[in-house]
Amino acid sequence: MKILWQMDQPVDPGLTTLMQTAADCAVLTEGVAQPCAVSVRLCDDEAIHAINRDYRQVDRATDVLSFPLLAYPKGKTAGSLSRHALAQAWDDETNAVMLGDLVISVDHIAAQAEAYGHSVAREAAFLLVHGLCHLMGYDHMEEDEQRRMRTMEEKILNQIGMSREENAEGMEPVSDEALLGLARAAMERAYAPYSEFSVGAALLCEDGRVFQGCNIENASYPLSNCAERTAVFKAVSEGEKSFTTIAITSNGSTPWPCGACRQVLNEFAPSIRVLVEGADGVRDELPLSALLPHGFGPKDLGK
Ligand SMILES: [Zn+2]
Repeated sequence: MKILWQMDQPVDPGLTTLMQTAADCAVLTEGVAQPCAVSVRLCDDEAIHAINRDYRQVDRATDVLSFPLLAYPKGKTAGSLSRHALAQAWDDETNAVMLGDLVISVDHIAAQAEAYGHSVAREAAFLLVHGLCHLMGYDHMEEDEQRRMRTMEEKILNQIGMSREENAEGMEPVSDEALLGLARAAMERAYAPYSEFSVGAALLCEDGRVFQGCNIENASYPLSNCAERTAVFKAVSEGEKSFTTIAITSNGSTPWPCGACRQVLNEFAPSIRVLVEGADGVRDELPLSALLPHGFGPKDLGK
């Protein structure tokens, strides 16, 4: 999912990272048959108030506004539209189906997080997912459609460890399928002009959060970074250090992590599950302890 950001003010970069993962997860969960794009503007209450007044004749600030580009027949959502119907909103610039525009108030994110007693991150993810669901054809005017929308929102948020209810009942932990899907979405962002070997990783943390990474090459070849380390570094710099599974996908052979990545993973999670899938769709998995036997780690330095 390509997000075209418009930031009226600086926001915590951790929030936009999380929103990107949530957006990837939303189109995966919905099962949209084409690559998608969306524009997201993050603004303050005053700006969203003006938009709400000018475009919807509602004279107040709100948390999120959605302006879908696709018209959905009754009962249909983006995942049930044909490629032909989706093509109506094809955008040549992003090379994707433009689902529409979202406007989210950063003031409302903060105020509602405090009012509901949950994290700013969770509120930001919820508002993005709520808005995206509208852009994908969901609504909450009638009771049955509201139930459908709520179920979809919870399903998406649950898969990135951001379900609105802690340990929401009946919700499965993040599945291997979902994690591999997020790794594939990250792979689409790989910067690999030299090797053309694209890799994506999705790192699942103990608390259910997911961090994505792709490989990033450089004209000075040795400076290139692998997808796995990108994901680990993103997670650690956002305060996460407990990892349970890493899913890795590639556009070529089965992407078992290189020696450097095994060593970096070993620093934080010596027994992490490593789940791999190559372009042929064949999956395999091993615990890191089998990929890096007798690994040198913090324990060897008495830490
Ligand atoms: Zn590596």
